[in-house]
Formats: sequence, C-alpha cells, structure tokens
Amino acid sequence: MLARLLLVLITAMALAACMPSPAPVTDAEPVGERRIALTFDDIPRHQGAFLDTDERAEMLRTTLREAGVEQAAFFVNTGKLQERANGLGHLLAYMADGHVMANHAATHPSLSDLSVEEYLAEIDAAEEWLVQLEGHRPWFRYPFLDEGRADIAKRDGVRAGLAARGLTNGYVTVDASDWFYDQAASTARSEGRDVDMEALGELFVESHVEAANFFDDLAVRTIGRSPAHVMLLHEADVTVLFLADLIHALEADGWSIITADEAYADPFAAFAATYDTPSAQGTLTEQVAWERDLPAPRWYSRNALSEAQAEFDRRVLGQIEEED
Ligand SMILES: [Zn+2]
Repeated sequence: MLARLLLVLITAMALAACMPSPAPVTDAEPVGERRIALTFDDIPRHQGAFLDTDERAEMLRTTLREAGVEQAAFFVNTGKLQERANGLGHLLAYMADGHVMANHAATHPSLSDLSVEEYLAEIDAAEEWLVQLEGHRPWFRYPFLDEGRADIAKRDGVRAGLAARGLTNGYVTVDASDWFYDQAASTARSEGRDVDMEALGELFVESHVEAANFFDDLAVRTIGRSPAHVMLLHEADVTVLFLADLIHALEADGWSIITADEAYADPFAAFAATYDTPSAQGTLTEQVAWERDLPAPRWYSRNALSEAQAEFDRRVLGQIEEED
C-alpha cells in the first residue's frame, strides 16, 4: 500500500518535472489590441446650436449606456455649475450611471495667463467641491491642455503642486479637436448656411478614428507598444450627436472602449509628470514622442484647424475649392 502510494508520488513528481513550466505571467496585451477610454471636458458646457442642454445630457447618457460604455470620465469646471441650467443635475445623472468626475479647474483658465499660485487656487477651489462626490477621481485636466508651454518654471511649479495634493495629470493621448466641428457647424447655422448633417457626422467620425490610429501608431513607434489611450471629447452638441457612430466606428476598426480607471492605470501615465520638451501643451503621446526625438508630424493633421475648416467647408457646406 505504502509502496504503491510512493510509486504514485514519484510518477507524479516525474511528470511534473517533464511538464513545461507555465508561461511567465505578464500584463502585456496581445499584439494588435487597442484600447481607449472616453473623456468629456467642460462639464457643464454652454448651450449649443443643435440641442437643448437637458436633451444633450440625456442623449449622452443613453448613448454611453446603449454602447456598453461602463465608465467615462467627466472633467468639471465647478465654478460654472451654478450659472448653467441643470448643470449640477446633469453631473449627478452622469455619476449615477457609473461615470467618474474629475478636476478641470473652477473657471477654465489657461496656465499661461496665471501665476502658479493663482492656478493652484483654481485647482483647489474645484477639488474642494469635487471630493464630496462618490464618483470623484484625483485627476486634473489642464484647460486647453496648456501645461505652461515654454515656461518651464511654471510647468514644474504646477506639477509639484499637483503631487503635493495627491492629484495626477488627467492627460489625453488622442485629440481630434471635437469642439471645432461643433463650433464650425454652429457658426454655419447662425450664418444661415445649409449644414449637411450626414456629411458632418462622417467627417467627425472619420477624423476621430484617424486621430486614434495616428496617435496609436506614434505611441508604438515611441515606446514599442500600444498604451491604453484616453480620447479628449467635450459635452458638445456635435460630439453627442455623433458619439454612437464614433463608438461603433472605433469598435469596427478593432478598438475596445475601456474605463478611464483602466486607462490611467497604464504605466504610460508616468510620463505625464516627467516629460521634458520645449513646450508643454497637447497630447501626452505627442510630448513623449517629441522628448524622444521622433520625427514630425507628432500630431494629427486635422488638429491644424485650417485643415479641419477646409474639410468642413468642402464636405459639410458643399463649397467648391477654388483653383488657382
Ligand atoms: Zn476644457
């Protein structure tokens, strides 16, 4: 009996020795998987030309829910909550859906216009209000993505201030200037022009998918892998009107929509507190590529607004390009 047990044991040990050792555990993503979180700035944003703000908030909520987006991040200007109708109500509704709230300064100032002290006071005022929220996250998104531009002392002063407060940079890795399409369409409408909404949607979606792929390719060339991305969007009419189409187009192109929590847990986030370039502004993808001397272009071409405007005029307003 004992001998038999011993034999079983020895056989088991021998078998174990012959077994290939388990593959090393890594958190590397399978090649080709691309992930992106959705983030919305300027909460509560002003009334637009196409939707009532209540209607807009409802549409945004429904779209995220129906697309299965578990958690988007909303960056709030707390100083504007009182002045915009139902701003607080919309914020609470987004939060009830599982989305998270973070800091976009009290009144949306540009760092280039303020001292470090004034700017940190803006952050503190917003944070003081935001911390009471259940869906609060300790992230700060720089308005205009202005991190001090060429003023290195200012850049580093605010970075130190964020670290002292336990806040991290709510950076973006993908930007296609979504607000521009809202503004251009709103201007065209106010001038009494015909806005081809279908063409607008196509241009909006195409630009955002192209930007996601552009910045992902840039990141892969810079750090050798595809990081979890963060897309910059706004609580703007045109963005909300075409958000469902955008999500479907991203997914059809092989992207998965992830939570903001997952995106900001990516090791790529560490660069946001340390990158050193001649001008601190824009996407983190661009900044890290610049720091590592990747050749230009390091930003999506339609973020040059003259180029976006030309596309808009031609495709949405049906203007014929003039020939020389
Ligand atoms: Zn903003």
